[in-house]
Amino acid sequence: MNVEKIIYEKSNIIKSAVNFPLFYLGARMFIRAKYREDKVTKISYLYALDLVKHVYSKKSKKIMMNIFAPSEIFYALDMYPLLPEVAAGFLAAFGLIRRALSESEAILGNSDVCSVHRGVVGLSKLKIFPTPDFLVSYTKPCFSPVFSFALTKDLNGGEIYIIDSYEDIDYLASQIEMLYYNLTKRLGVKDGINRLKKAITLSNEAYKYFEEIKDLRREYVVMDGKNFLDYAGMIFSVFGSKYGVEFFKSLRDEIKERIKRGDIIEPKVRLYWMHLGPYFKTDFFQWLNSKGAYIVFEESTSISWEKLDVSNPFESLAKKLVNFKAFSTLEDRVNTALENVEKYKADGVIIFNQWGCRQGSVPAYIIRQKLVSEGIPSIVIDGDLVDELNFPKEQIKTRVEAFLEVIS
Ligand code: SF4
Repeated sequence: MNVEKIIYEKSNIIKSAVNFPLFYLGARMFIRAKYREDKVTKISYLYALDLVKHVYSKKSKKIMMNIFAPSEIFYALDMYPLLPEVAAGFLAAFGLIRRALSESEAILGNSDVCSVHRGVVGLSKLKIFPTPDFLVSYTKPCFSPVFSFALTKDLNGGEIYIIDSYEDIDYLASQIEMLYYNLTKRLGVKDGINRLKKAITLSNEAYKYFEEIKDLRREYVVMDGKNFLDYAGMIFSVFGSKYGVEFFKSLRDEIKERIKRGDIIEPKVRLYWMHLGPYFKTDFFQWLNSKGAYIVFEESTSISWEKLDVSNPFESLAKKLVNFKAFSTLEDRVNTALENVEKYKADGVIIFNQWGCRQGSVPAYIIRQKLVSEGIPSIVIDGDLVDELNFPKEQIKTRVEAFLEVIS
């Protein structure tokens, strides 16, 4: 059975099917039974199911946002934000992104563009995403979503909002505030500020668990960091929702439980991983583990911010966005890496260099030089997050193996 063909060619039938309440009842029962023992996976699938329900419902308004946009403002308005970059990664994990990547070439004219956004454009062209009412793109960490969202708007409609500012907190706060009140007006919401306060409170609660997880990981390795590369979708999507609290709490509990049981990994080589990693099926990470090498921390999990101020939500959210050091300037990324290598006692750094990444490709080699000059063994691996044709696995393994031998 060609699942990719069914998904792309029968997407209208699938979209109608997911509008039947019975579908969700059955799917929820299945998830609860299958993942009874694995609360972390159970919550992330229940969240994904609720997301599908909201974004394909005929009644609800649809919002698309890129990673790092402030999800809290959408949850405050009962909108589940769809992150098309995460959707591209999710489909890649199931081997379902090739057709979208090919379709995007007819629009973009070449494949020298970040494959995540090629995937977004292809999925939009194939009408896999619901017709968005609003598209919100923040310009940090990169401008690619501004272009892919503009193309999505041309292909599928919707109103586009760009939040721009790398540095200026007041300016950014005023844009978030304007966007929020514009949306409340458009949706006919009366008690906007109270709703936002609730979402901010949920965000703070989830964040408390998120920070606890980071602290626990400083002392113990109980799971490979590849899991956290996969959790990036949750990290970027769920703050401000009840799922954010449930997910990070259950992950914190799971880590504590493994520590209590003594399920502790003693890596031969401790690695810090920069950027995200391949989302398609690959044995690369198991292969790393078979060599005794484990990712003890990742750049994507290192995002942090001050507790959000419920009485000053817009400025607080602006500070959160501006202060992200991961995927930021070259200087921020190097300093964050130096700090994390020390905190998590990493022996070396793997810098994943995403093909076509306008934000990270050139800095990858400069970051390596800077880390090496600080005495930290580092290697750049050129690969791709979603397009496995740009991931020469055996070649990469040969280089990484030599790197591990040097640092172990
Ligand atoms: S991989 Fe690079 S270009 Fe692609 S979305 Fe991330 S930062 Fe932007």
